[in-house]
Amino acid sequence: MTCKSAPPLESNFEYLFSGLAFWRRLAQRASVGFLFCICSTFLAVVELPVAGGESPGTDLRTEHFLLHVESLPAEETGQFLEAAYMEMKKFFRGVEPDRKLQVKIYATREHYQNEMDRLRRIFSVKRRTRDILGVYLRETACSYLFLQPQLSGTRKLLLHEVAHQYHDYLRPWSRAPSLEFCEEGIAEFFALHNWDGAVLKLGVIPEIGQIDYAKEALTKLHDPVRFDLNNIVSGNTEVDYPLAWGLVSFLVERYRPNFDIWRQGINNDVEPRLVWRKQFGALMPEILKSFEPWLQSNVSPWQVVSGEWSPAGDALEGRGQEEDFGLAILNQTPAEFTVTLVSSNANSCGGAVFGFQGAKNFHVLQRCPDGQWEVMHRQGTYFPKEERRHFPGKESRRMTVIPGEDFTTLKFDGQAVTLTNVSGHLGLWVKEGPMRFRCARAGGGNAHSTTNSQPPGTKAN
Ligand SMILES: [Zn+2]
Repeated sequence: MTCKSAPPLESNFEYLFSGLAFWRRLAQRASVGFLFCICSTFLAVVELPVAGGESPGTDLRTEHFLLHVESLPAEETGQFLEAAYMEMKKFFRGVEPDRKLQVKIYATREHYQNEMDRLRRIFSVKRRTRDILGVYLRETACSYLFLQPQLSGTRKLLLHEVAHQYHDYLRPWSRAPSLEFCEEGIAEFFALHNWDGAVLKLGVIPEIGQIDYAKEALTKLHDPVRFDLNNIVSGNTEVDYPLAWGLVSFLVERYRPNFDIWRQGINNDVEPRLVWRKQFGALMPEILKSFEPWLQSNVSPWQVVSGEWSPAGDALEGRGQEEDFGLAILNQTPAEFTVTLVSSNANSCGGAVFGFQGAKNFHVLQRCPDGQWEVMHRQGTYFPKEERRHFPGKESRRMTVIPGEDFTTLKFDGQAVTLTNVSGHLGLWVKEGPMRFRCARAGGGNAHSTTNSQPPGTKAN
């Protein structure tokens, strides 16, 4: 039995311990090292074929991945993963795994669970692998997941598991991650992304999404059970994903060198609490004081009411789901709201929402596929015909809403329409989709027009 050579590590990071603790660690490493030999010999065997087993689907070998997909388009998924790999490599300052990353994406939860059950019979998989959406298993050096109802949800899950995997390949095989909060925070940091079909950015705070992570984290910040930094860095706290994302993203943005040493220390078997104290002890309580305003500044300006919404480059992409439409509203109302329809599939209608009082009472200015414009009012479960107004259209795909308590003005294609008593939130609307919108907000104390999309690591120090 030959032991596969260890993968290149991020650094020769070493901490000196004194006395008994050092020798105890040395002894632990020696015994784990033996297991590592068995494990990596096995890994060398299973890594070669993309072991799809009985699972139907496609196997694809890319430069950095061994991919098995049951129903997703393999080429596209491979391109997405390669783009993700480049982003992770950038974040980890050029350090990369010395082997391909295996990923299996199942079409259904049932197929995924069958595979988990099969693996449980072969390995002693300790983690709960039922009832969760995806997992990266060290035992097989492979990530497993199944399709989510929304495309952006599947992408997020895929990035989360691949981030675990990439990061795990950088640490010595003999050392398992010792601080789940940090590990999950890093996976979530990479999971939040901006993808326009060609360019992928990871580690961003999406302008729009199904979950507003910063808002979620804020609700837990003053709950001592969930957020007690001492307990978190000691590993005593149950992982809260938005909080873990928040803390990691905040540290990456504001304290990148300290964060790197903390993370590498944890990867190299240093007591997480000790390396935290060394890196961040002197920065307390400044960190605690500035974390909350940082979260507040990253709360999404949007609220998703229905459908699927995600950033796509400098645009926002929306789609309705099944029979339902997609609707997202702005939390704060600007003085002027301009929406440009960037692209859509042939049958989609989309436009601006105004006078939003609730999901059953709002107004829409939309551009139909034939170029006509339509103003309509949602009342209850439908848009009454007698309240629909049509206007001719030319080439323009741009519309502006100027809201007001008494009068709201709509401008589109050289025309202007003024309506009375339609105050309420502004937003975006799409029937079917996907449709992409570029939005510009002016005035109202909340003006900006581009998507917050930072490439990972670029804001650091
Ligand atoms: Zn995870």
